Amino acid sequence: MNIGLFRSLFKEKKLSLSHPRLLIYQELSNASSPLSPLEIYQNLLKKKKKVGLTSIYRSLELFESLGLVFKIVNGSNVKYKLCELENHHHHIVCKACGNVVELNFCDISDWSKKVTESTGYQVVDHQLNFYGFCKACKPLQRPQSAGR
Ligand SMILES: [Zn+2]
Ligand SMILES: [Zn+2]
Ligand SMILES: [Zn+2]
Repeated sequence: MNIGLFRSLFKEKKLSLSHPRLLIYQELSNASSPLSPLEIYQNLLKKKKKVGLTSIYRSLELFESLGLVFKIVNGSNVKYKLCELENHHHHIVCKACGNVVELNFCDISDWSKKVTESTGYQVVDHQLNFYGFCKACKPLQRPQSAGR
């Protein structure tokens, strides 16, 4: 997600895009892999930019609620990745290296129908994460079985 889009989303929601929020966006935008709040804090410190850790946590929560970032929870470890896709989408997380790929398709219409049939609820939203092993990690995880 580029800065123009990021700015316009804040404007649309009538939220202020403060300097710390912008710095956090830039860190996420420059990162090649997901970052933890502490990593963002330390990266900013290295650039002589002091943003409080609490403020980083709050900003990331806000970004997540706006659908701008994806939160990856692995036990007590939490990392964030800036979303490239702006519309509704899903993610797959590698259980070994933690890499995330965005999925630009979503077809759960049959599933929604089943939920409605079994509960009477009208489905308006959903969240769904996929977990697995990426191409680079898969060979390490596969059991050493012969004949395949
Ligand atoms: Zn995403
Ligand atoms: Zn991996
Ligand atoms: Zn979906």
